[in-house]
Amino acid sequence: MEKQTCSICGKKSKKHCGLCKAFTCKKCAHDIGKEFFSFWDPIPEDLTHGYYCNTCFVNKVSPDYNTYCEILNRAKEMDVYFKKKHSKEVRLFKKASSIITVTDWPDYDDMILHMAFLAAKDNYNTIINVETSSRKIHDGSYKIILWSGTAIPANKNISFL
Ligand SMILES: [Zn+2]
Ligand SMILES: [Zn+2]
Repeated sequence: MEKQTCSICGKKSKKHCGLCKAFTCKKCAHDIGKEFFSFWDPIPEDLTHGYYCNTCFVNKVSPDYNTYCEILNRAKEMDVYFKKKHSKEVRLFKKASSIITVTDWPDYDDMILHMAFLAAKDNYNTIINVETSSRKIHDGSYKIILWSGTAIPANKNISFL
């Protein structure tokens, strides 16, 4: 039987790297969680495991990890313009030709952030004409609200001088 010890430090470990399957203890692993890349659509297979040894993380995950964090930071900074409230402000923004649609997020803020992420990924610096909707579903005795939204990616014209 294979020994369940960390391939790096030799400590007991039942967890293993999602890619190479080498036993890797929590201390030696990169444990980013399976949900980490949830805004990436579709999520490449290699990025879905959430638990990696250092070698696999450095070689196969970290370039995407860094890109993802960079896009996510821009998305978090983004101003969001709602269709009902801000139609005047956005008249002169340069709009993308396609609309972003996201569906069925249990969390409202995640739903907005997902739209901002998709816009940031295509190098837009804002989202406009944002409209949201929700629906209730029953999960046993629980009621869950799922949020959906649409938006147009846009660039604020920064050089009015
Ligand atoms: Zn270890
Ligand atoms: Zn590995």
